[in-house]
Amino acid sequence: MKLCTRCVLPETFPGIEFDEEGVCQYCRNMPPPERRIEQRAKLRERFEQLASEVRAESGYHGLMSWSGGKDSTYTLWLMRHVYNLRMLAFTFDNGFVSPAAMDNMRTIADNLSIDHIIIRPAFPFMQRAFAASVEPGMYPPKALERASGICNTCMGLAKGLALRLALEKDVPMMVYGWSPGQIPLPSAFLRPNRKMLQAMAEAAASPFTRMNEHVAAYFPEARHFEAAPQMPVNVSPLVFLDWREEEALEVVQAHGWKRPDDTDPNSTNCLLNTFANQIHAQQMGYHAYAMELAGLVREGYMQRDEALRRLAIPPAPDLVSSVAERLGVSVDALLERARVSGAN
Ligand SMILES: [Zn+2]
Repeated sequence: MKLCTRCVLPETFPGIEFDEEGVCQYCRNMPPPERRIEQRAKLRERFEQLASEVRAESGYHGLMSWSGGKDSTYTLWLMRHVYNLRMLAFTFDNGFVSPAAMDNMRTIADNLSIDHIIIRPAFPFMQRAFAASVEPGMYPPKALERASGICNTCMGLAKGLALRLALEKDVPMMVYGWSPGQIPLPSAFLRPNRKMLQAMAEAAASPFTRMNEHVAAYFPEARHFEAAPQMPVNVSPLVFLDWREEEALEVVQAHGWKRPDDTDPNSTNCLLNTFANQIHAQQMGYHAYAMELAGLVREGYMQRDEALRRLAIPPAPDLVSSVAERLGVSVDALLERARVSGAN
């Protein structure tokens, strides 16, 4: 298979174009390093300004979407101990948070002195939602370029719940553990107005209304937007702060974080990930993490060889079959469902 000679995007990636040197358009169109350093510094300045404004407020200063993985745990530490912000951690439990990740979160929340809310939707609902996420039309093709349908389902629900919590509790900042390359640079500090935020919430809810599920409780409603005195700012600090992976690992380990050995190399917290990736690869013809790892390589946060190594690791069959068993559906049956509904 032909790959971009600079990042790791394959020729099967939708809309990819290689130039005569075999470089993809994402690598070619990347702003020069000086420009990115400048942009990052600007984002950092805006974040530090906001942090100093909200620090005097009485309630929570930030709502951290916490997976229990290394990056979001490190972000939580930064917010709490470097920026001295009162954080509320929120975890969306899709029914597949690994026991090791749960242990980590219990230890870390106490060690960092953080309040923690876990919401775990009823598992039968999650089963139906995951099965529906492979169907063509559930998500726009663009959304599937960055993550599998199953991941999109979790992220949609997690985002909706987090936003509802932030509005209900009047939290001025929603914090995410995305690292550079995982999201576009300008998205790392977003100050949406009410209208934008409401549109975002509606877009996140729409796939579920489409599958005819009652999901109002998982998303903010019009009354939340009307009652909230301020709209929370979206912040992904790892995108614009200076940090190194080894340093992050050292910090979280010093606070009791242990690397889970029960998940796959692309996710240190979710047991569903391998399964979701296998379906995505078979359905779409490229790895669900191709775009993310390509971004990390492009931004210089991962060696190309390391990204290639991760993309080449075959899904562990026992992990895939145990997930299939819990979901009550086989990989083949899901792919068949995707084909049949695609033909309709
Ligand atoms: Zn490339």
